[in-house]
Amino acid sequence: MQKVLNYIDGVLCPALSGVFMDGHDPSTGAVHVQIAASDGSDVDRAVAAAERAQPAWEKLGAARRSKYLLAIAERITERSELFAEAESRDNGKPVSLAREVDIPRAAANFRFFATAILHQQGEAHFTDDVALNYTERRPVGVAGCISPWNLPLYLFTWKIAPALASGCAVVAKPSEVTPLTASMLAQVCVDVGLPPGVLNIVNGTGKEVGEAMTTHPGIHAISFTGGTVTGASIAERAAPLFKKLSLELGGKNPVLIFDDCDYEEMLTTTVRSSFRNQGQICLCGSRILVQEGIYQRFKEDFVARAKSLRVGDPRDEASDLGAVVSEAHMNKVLGHIRTARNEGGTVLCGGERLHLAGELSGGWYIPPTVIEGLGAACSTVQEEIFGPVVTLQPFKDEDEALQLANGTDYGLASVVWTNDLKRAHRVAHELRSGIVWVNCWMIRDLRTPFGGMKQSGVGREGGLEALRFFTEAKNVCIKR
Ligand code: NDP
Repeated sequence: MQKVLNYIDGVLCPALSGVFMDGHDPSTGAVHVQIAASDGSDVDRAVAAAERAQPAWEKLGAARRSKYLLAIAERITERSELFAEAESRDNGKPVSLAREVDIPRAAANFRFFATAILHQQGEAHFTDDVALNYTERRPVGVAGCISPWNLPLYLFTWKIAPALASGCAVVAKPSEVTPLTASMLAQVCVDVGLPPGVLNIVNGTGKEVGEAMTTHPGIHAISFTGGTVTGASIAERAAPLFKKLSLELGGKNPVLIFDDCDYEEMLTTTVRSSFRNQGQICLCGSRILVQEGIYQRFKEDFVARAKSLRVGDPRDEASDLGAVVSEAHMNKVLGHIRTARNEGGTVLCGGERLHLAGELSGGWYIPPTVIEGLGAACSTVQEEIFGPVVTLQPFKDEDEALQLANGTDYGLASVVWTNDLKRAHRVAHELRSGIVWVNCWMIRDLRTPFGGMKQSGVGREGGLEALRFFTEAKNVCIKR
């Protein structure tokens, strides 16, 4: 059976303990890989390797670091089909989605930061004729990157690429649930001759590896994407060590649909923003708020479209949805649907586990699920579900729409559908979320700041924000 090894000091190696844990294929439920089950001692080794590599990596300079990153991007692109198949097998997502989104974006992350670092500028301030101040940015030191399972390589590289470009050596942990493409990235790094210790990948659980990284004094910054509860625990542990923290956390994103919108475009995009990647994208819209005049029409059309989506073998090009990532996650999502029923919600479609035939019979499938009739305070409407489940709520006017939209503890992303330009500006301004899409969804420009408000996170990723996070400003004042 395929083994997922650690990548430490330039070498692919098992955990020091020699222990492996099972990794499952969500489409069948079968074990398909053995993953190095690392612990704090492996993290110690990785940090020591990173500390040795850090000075030379920084001194290499941006232009030469950039060439390594471009070479990595190139190799990912060359092997994109293998990467896409592995991502689909490990995560349960349709291979077509991995081909279209995950893998091209992973390569793009390296390409983007390889070139962005060449454009980074310092600042200078002239203090009358007394002094000249200039501000340089130095790498923060060894950086820790911890990523989730929903967009495995996409989010892993979204952190690693800016850290490496900035001159940091990196210790990174993929989710134990989906480590396969991270291990393929390690092989790419070996193949392009990335200096040993510059990137170290340690596999294992959050409890063992994630916590060891969070509390390791040799790691000076932690870039984390994952759940809000995990984020809070990382913040609590890292704060006394004064680590820099970037936390990209959960969401409960509202989609505000006004009756003057371009209806067909809205409908098609809302189906996508609800169920893409089985609803397991932090940016998916999970609370659909619809102006009352078009509520009934929308409900009928949306449910019909949701029912027509094909849930099936992730390897089949015709599948719109694949499996959810794990049995535990499937049970969690089904538990939320049970709660919705107990809270008085009506399940308009989906709502039960789907059993497919043959070798897929052990797989973890949930069909698109649409729920209506819940009040704004219900836990189904308040808590992140992170599966193919959305709620519908009608609203009267702009004020009520905003009140509902802003009425959760989260503030990651929002979507607004309207053809009234003034309203679009007004509503976008009032929404308490870090990202607002108007008449679109998931258009991403990697230069823009990315992150959430409230319990959706602290800090921003993307473009210069990421390069700032992995560096520290130093001001030098020279008397004239
Ligand atoms: P988790 O918070 O469970 O895990 C995220 C990562 O943290 C995993 O690598 C996990 O390891 C690790 N981890 C778990 N416990 C600890 C700990 N105590 N200390 C350090 N690391 C730890 O999230 P999920 O993987 O379940 O991902 C889903 C969540 O991610 C959702 O809430 C989603 O909204 C959020 N997310 C946010 C995004 C954003 O940009 N804001 C983007 C994508 C997802 P392991 O898996 O090995 O246990």
